[in-house]
Amino acid sequence: PETIVVQELANRMAERAADVVKSLMKMGMMVSMNQAIDADTAELVIEEFGHKAVRVSDSDVEQVIDTVVDSEENLLPRAPVVTIMGHVDHGKTSLLDRIRKANIATGEAGGITQHIGAYQVKTPSGQLVTFLDTPGHAAFTSMRARGANVTDIVVLVVAADDAVMPQTVEAIHHAKAAGVPIIVAINKMDKHSANPTKVRTDLLQHEIVVEAMSGDVQDVEVSAHTGMGIDKLLEAISLQAEILELKANPNRDGMGAVVEAKLDVGRGPVATVLVQNGTLRKGDIFVVGQKWGKVRALLNDKGETITEAGPSTPVEVLGLNGTPSAGDVLNVVPTEAQAREIADYREQTTKDKRAAAGAATTLEQLMAKA
Ligand code: GDP
Ligand code: MG
Repeated sequence: PETIVVQELANRMAERAADVVKSLMKMGMMVSMNQAIDADTAELVIEEFGHKAVRVSDSDVEQVIDTVVDSEENLLPRAPVVTIMGHVDHGKTSLLDRIRKANIATGEAGGITQHIGAYQVKTPSGQLVTFLDTPGHAAFTSMRARGANVTDIVVLVVAADDAVMPQTVEAIHHAKAAGVPIIVAINKMDKHSANPTKVRTDLLQHEIVVEAMSGDVQDVEVSAHTGMGIDKLLEAISLQAEILELKANPNRDGMGAVVEAKLDVGRGPVATVLVQNGTLRKGDIFVVGQKWGKVRALLNDKGETITEAGPSTPVEVLGLNGTPSAGDVLNVVPTEAQAREIADYREQTTKDKRAAAGAATTLEQLMAKA
C-alpha cells in the first residue's frame, strides 16, 4: 500500500511535524514523525489541516516519458554491444586492451583513449562494435537485476592453458539466462601449454558446442599478447550481429542505460550512458533513475566533444543534478519541470518504501517483545 512518512507529509503541507503528530494522536494513532502512515490516514490529516489532497500515481507522473513503439520502417541497423566475460586471469582485460589498441593503430589518429567504461571499434570490414569495458560479471548481473539488458553478445574468454573454470561456467549461465549468444575466444594460444581441444571438449559438458565440434557456437583462437586472431574475433562478432539483425530508431528522443557514473572533482557528476535507442543531443533534458539534468556536454570514448549520440554509442554525459547508479535508465523528457517532478517522485517513492519497511520492522520488534 501507498504510505508517506509523517515528516514528509508535514513538509509538503508546510506544517510542523510535531503538529501533525499531535493531530494523529487525536485520531488515536501513536506515530513518530519518522514513521510512515498509509495514504488514507494521510488524506484525513491533510483535510484536518484544511489542505486538499491530490494523489499522484506512477502512471500520471511517468507518462510524459515517450513510450513510442518504433514501427519497422523507422528502424535502422545498429552496432552490437559486446561484454567480455570469463574466469579471472584468463585475459579479459588484456583482450579488451588489445582490441582497443589494434583499432587505434589501424584507425583514427588521436590515440589517447580515456577510460569511460565502454568503447567502440571498427572491424576490418567496417562494422562498428561497442565493447562494455566494465568489470565483467558484477556489472552484467547488477544491470540485468535492474532490468537493463544492455548486452547483445557475450565473448567468453577461456585460457587455452587452463580450460573451463568456475567463473567460465558462471558466465555461461549468465549469458544463457539473459538469452544472449556466446562467442568463445580461446585465449593465450601463444603459450606452449595451450590446449584448445581441451577447452572445446570441456565446454561440451556445459552444452556449448562450438563450430569446430560441429556445433553452432563460434569459436576463435586468439592471443591477447601477440594479437593473433583478433581480427577473426571481430569478424565473428560482426557475423553474429548480422544474424541478430540489431536495429534501433535514431530519429526519436534518446534513451539509454548508465554503464558507469562518478562524481568528478572538476566536472561534477558524470555518467557514461550507452544510448540504446533514439539520439541523445546536447541541450536535451532528461531523467535518469532518481536524477535529472540537461546535457551540458557529450564526450565520446576518445574524450572528444560531440553534439549527438545515436543507438549503441557510449557517451559521457555532463549536466546531471547528482550521480546516478549503473543500470539506471535515461529518458529524454520535454521540460525541466517534468524532469524534476519525475526524479523527485521516484526519490520520494524510494524513501517511502524504505520508511514503510522500517516501520514494519519496528512493529515486528514490538510484537516480538510483547
Ligand atoms: P583477466 O583477469 O581475465 O582480466 O585477465 P588479464 O587480462 O588481467 O590477464 C591475466 C594474466 O594473463 C596477465 O598476466 C596477462 O599478461 C596474461 N595474459 C593475458 N592474455 C594472454 C595471452 O594471450 N598470452 C599470454 N601468454 N598471457 C596472457
Ligand atoms: Mg581483468
